[in-house]
Amino acid sequence: MLRANAVSMNPNHQALREKMVRTQLRARGILDPRVLQAMEEVPRHAFVPDPQVPHAYEDRPLVIDCQQTISQPYMVAVMTELLQLQPADRVLEIGTGSGYQAAVLASLVEQVYTLERFPELSGPALNRLSSLGYVNIEFAQGDGWHGWLEQAPFDAILVACSTPRIPAPLVEQLRPGRRMVIPIGPEGGEQQLVCLTREPDGSTREEILMSVRFVPLLRGIP
Ligand code: SAH
Repeated sequence: MLRANAVSMNPNHQALREKMVRTQLRARGILDPRVLQAMEEVPRHAFVPDPQVPHAYEDRPLVIDCQQTISQPYMVAVMTELLQLQPADRVLEIGTGSGYQAAVLASLVEQVYTLERFPELSGPALNRLSSLGYVNIEFAQGDGWHGWLEQAPFDAILVACSTPRIPAPLVEQLRPGRRMVIPIGPEGGEQQLVCLTREPDGSTREEILMSVRFVPLLRGIP
C-alpha cells in the first residue's frame, strides 16, 4: 500500500532499515516474513521529529511531540507478529502517536482504524500517512478506552499505551477467535505485554509475554 516516494528511496535509509531488520528483529526471533518485509519498507525516519532523524533506526523508542514516544522497532514487530494478521483483516490501534505503527499495520491488512487522544498528534499523523500514500487508514481523535464502536468488530486490536486493566469495551469489540495485544500495569511501573485471545465462545485467554515500559493510556480527552 506504500507508494514509491522521495523519503523511502533514500539509499542510506534503505540500508539502515535492512540492518535494523537483520540485527534487531530477525536475530531476536521475529519470523513472520510479512512483518519483516513491512518493517523493511516503512520509512521510520519520516515519522520522527527532525532532530531524531539520525536516530530513527536505532534500537530504542524515540521521543515525539506531546511527550509521547514512537516504540522501539522490536516492540512494534513483536506486537504486530502476535496479532497473526491476514490480508483481509480490519485492525484497531489505540494510540496513533507518530503513525509509524499504523503504517506497518496498513502494509499488512485491508483497513486500519487508529485512535489518538491528542489532536496535535492525530492531525500531523494523518497528513504524514496520506503524503506517504497510505489510503487504508482511518483516523479519529478521542479516548481509546472506549474503542470505536461504529467500526467494530475488529479482527485484531493493538494498544500502544499501558493501562492498569484491560478495557472491557475493547474486548467486546474484538472478533471471537482473534487477538488483542496490550501493555498492562501501572504508569511508570512494572508492566507486562499481554496477548488476549477472545475464544469463539466469548471467554478470554490471556498470555503474559514480556516486561515492557509504555507511556500510559490517559483517560478523557485533553
Ligand atoms: N503507535 C505510536 C506510538 C504511540 S505512544 C507510534 O507508532 O508512534 C502512545 C500513544 O497513545 C500516544 O500518542 C498517546 O497520546 C496515546 N494515548 C494515550 N492515551 C490515550 C487514549 N486514552 N486514547 C487514545 N490514545 C491515547
